[in-house]
Amino acid sequence: MLPDAAEEKITDITPALLHAMGVKALILDADNTLSGHASQIPFEGAVEWVARMQKEGFSAIVVSNNFKKRVEPFAAQFGLPFISMAMKPFPFGYLRAVRRMKSSRKQTVAIGDQVFTDILGARLTGVRSILLTPQGEESVLRFGWRRRLEQPIRRKIRERRIGEKWKGKNQNNE
Ligand SMILES: [Mg+2]
Repeated sequence: MLPDAAEEKITDITPALLHAMGVKALILDADNTLSGHASQIPFEGAVEWVARMQKEGFSAIVVSNNFKKRVEPFAAQFGLPFISMAMKPFPFGYLRAVRRMKSSRKQTVAIGDQVFTDILGARLTGVRSILLTPQGEESVLRFGWRRRLEQPIRRKIRERRIGEKWKGKNQNNE
């Protein structure tokens, strides 16, 4: 259940890290990854980050379990294609995303804030994964129990310094 790497925010992910992981295509979660939960306002720097990744040659797509009504106008702000109602952690949405980006599973990374949807789904599908720290406000009623279940995994990530192996490889050419 562990991700391949862990970062605080999406904007902390560098092209160097992605190159070290051997990926060229990005599956991006929406809620608490690119914006606050159900918010149409992207996190500071998120739009610029996506544009920079595309300029560096990465493909990207927004894959969300949320409704089309939420995801479509949101993805449009990034100029990105999207898959809504993706039913993560089931692999269908991921596989569609890989196909649409004309990538392969090995060369694709899923980036998201939830262990039991974003990361579990990535593992089931066979794509790489980067876990983020959930950003912004969210309803404790809605996600509290899930976040508690995530705690041992987040602790393990810190203890084992998950993702450190990619760093130092070519992180200096930023
Ligand atoms: Mg999320």
